[in-house]
Amino acid sequence: MALDPVKKIGLFWFTNDLRIDDNPALHQAADEVDTLICLYCIRPKSTFSDQQAPSKLSPNRQQFLFDSLIDLEKSLAEKGQQLLVEFKSPADAIPELITQYNISHIYRSNNASEYKRKIWDTLNKRYSMIQFNQIDSHTLFDKSQLPFTLDKLPDSFSKFRRMVSDIAVRAPLGKPPQLPISSLTTKQDWQTVWKGIWKAEPLHKQLSEDQLFKGGSQAGKQHLQNYFNSKSASSYKETRNGLDGLSYSTKFSPWLSNGSISARQIISELQKYETEAEANESTYWIYFELLWREYFQWYAHNHRAKLFKFNGIKNSNPTTSFYPERFQKWCQGNTPYPIVNACMKQLNATGYMSNRGRQLVASCFVHELNLDWRYGAAYMEQQLIDYDVASNWGNWQYLAGVGADPRGHRRFDLGKQTQIYDPERLFIKRWGGDQHLEKLDSRDTVDWPI
Ligand SMILES: Cc1cc2nc3c(=O)[nH]c(=O)nc-3n(C[C@H](O)[C@H](O)[C@H](O)COP(=O)(O)OP(=O)(O)OC[C@H]3O[C@@H](n4cnc5c(N)ncnc54)[C@H](O)[C@@H]3O)c2cc1C
Repeated sequence: MALDPVKKIGLFWFTNDLRIDDNPALHQAADEVDTLICLYCIRPKSTFSDQQAPSKLSPNRQQFLFDSLIDLEKSLAEKGQQLLVEFKSPADAIPELITQYNISHIYRSNNASEYKRKIWDTLNKRYSMIQFNQIDSHTLFDKSQLPFTLDKLPDSFSKFRRMVSDIAVRAPLGKPPQLPISSLTTKQDWQTVWKGIWKAEPLHKQLSEDQLFKGGSQAGKQHLQNYFNSKSASSYKETRNGLDGLSYSTKFSPWLSNGSISARQIISELQKYETEAEANESTYWIYFELLWREYFQWYAHNHRAKLFKFNGIKNSNPTTSFYPERFQKWCQGNTPYPIVNACMKQLNATGYMSNRGRQLVASCFVHELNLDWRYGAAYMEQQLIDYDVASNWGNWQYLAGVGADPRGHRRFDLGKQTQIYDPERLFIKRWGGDQHLEKLDSRDTVDWPI
């Protein structure tokens, strides 16, 4: 009598790859296992008190992620699968599932989160009988395509760009033709649990259409189509430093950051636009900016925990300190600088801020308010719907002079910047940047370092 072959039971750990299109690790799982559990973990800070809990999510971030997960669940359901959302750390959830379901294969998309890498490595060591598989898909290139080993990552973006400029971006994959059936026997009502934890109404209900971002792959792909159909790509280089509105820059970042769309999908659409509509300096510049993102991704992979250190990748500490009141004023948009206030109010209301705005508020944080850059980065982590660990902390380091900036000291003249980018102060007025201007009071101006 023939023996039953041993069943292969897979676990797919979704992180910032919330899509089934162009998800090579999911394709691999689909090819290899008989049944599969699709898992997403989120551990709300409010339910834990230890340091490793993820930061608080602003209502905008909550809503964007919630919509993204609903969309992922729908895509999985179309392939006969389901999404398991666990409200706990993956370090707890995955071992429980391994025991309960006798998991033999685990998959994930590789990403730059140090927290998740550590969990992955620990599990890998602990369960030697399980096959662990991870594939790069948050980046344009696979690690194997890079013309250097990670520890030899160029120390500046310009060098990096020159070295990778000839590498072809692989074409995106479609959806896996089919997915293995789920190992789960019951369907979980994670949406009710979610709503019980995060009771706050999203602020975005008060916003107009041009300020809204809707999470999920479907909305992301629709936005990608709309952007290229609008022909805004042809003038991107001239408009990209705008502060307000939908079309001055691509606004791909929210969907890119949680992986509802992939960077390769964007490049594929960009190349199509260049072939069918127009290729010019602006279209090149979209690729150029995506290379910045690429640089910060590999930078984070390389520097790991140094991404969060006060002195970053340098040898000496910045000459800043921490002043709680200044920090509060910056967060709320009540500093003496109207352009900074407008940007911060825009961020708090919408979960988004322009690239120019981010540079100005970060420069103000470090150079005018003399604050420890890590608190600014942590606040953005909490607020930004496009929060990406590598781009956020890498850019903050750069502006704080402890990262990949060869010049090392980038201070923006806020008055001049206002004249250039908001000459009629329309942006400042729209967001109330000149209301509640507050001086830094005397208690704030203690000498550093305290
Ligand atoms: C202090 C600071 C914090 C930042 N935090 C984040 C973050 O958490 N998440 C995030 O995605 N981006 C971050 N950025 C980079 C940049 O501001 C945003 O990617 C950009 O504003 C997103 O809007 P967009 O998609 O319209 O960009 P576009 O101008 O249309 O650029 C196209 C794409 O290129 C990439 N890109 C552009 N500029 C940068 C850059 N400087 N660094 C890395 N990638 C870039 C993004 O993926 C972006 O979607 C930060 C920048 C600064 C200065």
